[in-house]
Amino acid sequence: MQVSGLYQRTAYTRRSFLSRASQWSALAAAYPLIPLPSLAESLASDARVAQTPVVDKGFASVRKVGDGLYATISDTSKGLNTICNGGFLHGKDAALLIEGFVSPSGAAFQHETLRTLSKAPIMGAIDTHYHYDHSTGNSYYGANGISLWAHANTAKRIFASYAAMQGVEKSVIIGPLEAQAKNAKTEVARKHAAEYAATLGNIFGVANAAVLALPNRPLDPAKLPVNMDLGGLTAVVEAYPGHSGTDIIVRVPAQNVVYAGDLLFNNMYPVTFDEQASVSGWRSTLKTFLSWGKDIIFIPGHGQICGPEGVQLSLDLFDDIALQAEKFYKAGVPAEDAADQYIVPEKFRGVAIFAWNLSIGPTITKLYKEWGAK
Ligand SMILES: [Zn+2]
Repeated sequence: MQVSGLYQRTAYTRRSFLSRASQWSALAAAYPLIPLPSLAESLASDARVAQTPVVDKGFASVRKVGDGLYATISDTSKGLNTICNGGFLHGKDAALLIEGFVSPSGAAFQHETLRTLSKAPIMGAIDTHYHYDHSTGNSYYGANGISLWAHANTAKRIFASYAAMQGVEKSVIIGPLEAQAKNAKTEVARKHAAEYAATLGNIFGVANAAVLALPNRPLDPAKLPVNMDLGGLTAVVEAYPGHSGTDIIVRVPAQNVVYAGDLLFNNMYPVTFDEQASVSGWRSTLKTFLSWGKDIIFIPGHGQICGPEGVQLSLDLFDDIALQAEKFYKAGVPAEDAADQYIVPEKFRGVAIFAWNLSIGPTITKLYKEWGAK
């Protein structure tokens, strides 16, 4: 099978092996080190949420958030075994794991923690979408005979995005991005482009370090929602548009708990770079999340556990970007220039940005397209 005509394969030398082996430490050095904030006061007094985690490994901790419901929350300032959040659910008859994480050791941590709490047979693990930080640890599940569920398009997008990077000379992928940074028209555009090249370099490193494993239980979005009966605990798997074109969530309506995947970033600008990300679709998904009421506990894809205020913040961030972008649009500023010109207002200074050109920049260019720009 032809993987890609674009990329040129590299010869395997000892040197290239060593550079591959060091990708993980390069990732650790370059990843934005944002310490995890503590639980919001409203959740600290919520009877569903345990005040102390079941286990805290530094890079992630597992906390009870309901009856048979647990959240795995990453702290990337302390390690990068998981990077994203996840969790697990167990009823009387079965258990369900959420996320493959960025490394097999991250998936192992979550599985082993589940096993200290329940011996129920595992129905499967779910990737909430195809992105590397949620899926490049999937091979742990494969090796342990755990079925992997995901949106029907997740397997082919993991393959198209990350298998296509394997064995390719890094400069083939990163070179053009570095050239873009060099040729940028403004200092701020240069900074954003250089940050993007560095981030893609990190993802390249992860893709090359990973033994990719693809979900073997595709969930056709046309046939969702589906109920998963774990024995006295029903989880509903639903698909929504917004972040990646492959997004699914796990909802437990009886307990008002939602595992939102990357359809929710808590206290972080939404990451919209994906070719199938939809700003209008995402904003409507967030409004749906709000319509479920004030009592919902959300486990976001990244950041601390939150209530509806985390969803509202994401909507406010989209609104603020749209407000500024609309002024550029009406003034005739081209999309690619406007993408660098958003100003983070004082009230959002504490909101994290995971690479400008993966979040704020593409939100602006996608809004331009929604408004009819060519
Ligand atoms: Zn993602």
